[in-house]
Amino acid sequence: MKTPDASASDPPAGTPALELSRKAGGQEDGRLNGSSPEGRFFSKLDVLRCDLCPRRCLIPPQGRGACGVRGNLDGKSHIPWYGFVTALARDPIEKKPLYHFRPGSSILSIGFAGCNLRCPFCQNWRISQLRGREKPPGRYLEAEDVVALALDDGGGPPGGPFDPPQIAYTYSEPLVHPEYLLDCMQLAHRKGAANVLVTNGCVTQEAADEIIPFVDAVNIDLKSFSRQTYQKTLGGDLDTVLDFIAVCYENGVHVEVTTLLVPGLNDSEAELKSAAHFIADLEASRRGRVIPWHLSAYHPDWHWDVLPTDPAALLRAAEQAREILPYVYAGNIAGEAETRCPHCGKTLVSRRGYRIDTGGLTLKDAEYDEEKYYCCASCGKDLSVIVY
Ligand code: SF4
Repeated sequence: MKTPDASASDPPAGTPALELSRKAGGQEDGRLNGSSPEGRFFSKLDVLRCDLCPRRCLIPPQGRGACGVRGNLDGKSHIPWYGFVTALARDPIEKKPLYHFRPGSSILSIGFAGCNLRCPFCQNWRISQLRGREKPPGRYLEAEDVVALALDDGGGPPGGPFDPPQIAYTYSEPLVHPEYLLDCMQLAHRKGAANVLVTNGCVTQEAADEIIPFVDAVNIDLKSFSRQTYQKTLGGDLDTVLDFIAVCYENGVHVEVTTLLVPGLNDSEAELKSAAHFIADLEASRRGRVIPWHLSAYHPDWHWDVLPTDPAALLRAAEQAREILPYVYAGNIAGEAETRCPHCGKTLVSRRGYRIDTGGLTLKDAEYDEEKYYCCASCGKDLSVIVY
């Protein structure tokens, strides 16, 4: 006879209860001990892993990584964008921006396609974002052609910027094309041209180690000082970028850093202060070698329609950063920027837009080798803050 409170699903009296809890060794997750029968409807794929950036994409055959440029063709690595140049121009070096490397010079600038980040306010998204978009206009150029163009003095007007042979890899992310970059950079060095990298700095240590020996100057985007912003909004990794800045600096590359101030995203006083302290701590490790910081005005683009950076707020942020760092510049706004001699305080370089006056500098040949170096035209002291 049933007891009054027994339910219909209860096991009959005397049946041992099945233990289903994980604690009791149950298998809610399946037969994890490998005793299951073989599954059907699977294919063995030659998936490749790209170790160039921290995304470390697993790329199936006929697929592309998140940057859209590195792929897998029938199980083999595939870089169809090798040598595809989307932009080619001779720019003032201040446009990179580099303010303390060969001021007043012009530089051959080449741009590529694709990027490993997804900054929703990207100002070059037409060439940086490839997924689901048409191939951007451009053409293939051999590394030899790029270097030959850099060696040509460009026939600039008398009295214009001087033209030491130098190449900037810029506009969209150059580091997703390391094979082409290395071919150009190594040849450039053999022919006596300098290499300038303008990058998001988001590559693995093993890739950085191969490229940095051929880089003379770099401008690195420090897009935020928040791990969360890098991960969730930009698709990158803050620690990787900080490591890249440090490794470039420690290896003797001339380093400048740029932060685009996007209102409400990365412009809090606390965040900017943390970034400034990071740069200052690096500088303190090698006294004398400065890392100029460019705080740059954002304007709405691509998926981001927040109002542009207020110029007054930008100037205020630059002023506050100067309490921590000696060389901070406000960029992308009207106005003048100057660099003063750390010894006598006289103006070394003044800039109004891209009109650059380097009258406060003297460029001298070193006595015992082919190096050149800058001195202050006023007090005559050697300058370590401006490099050739
Ligand atoms: S470089 Fe491109 S393919 Fe390689 S891991 Fe990064 S996003 Fe993926």
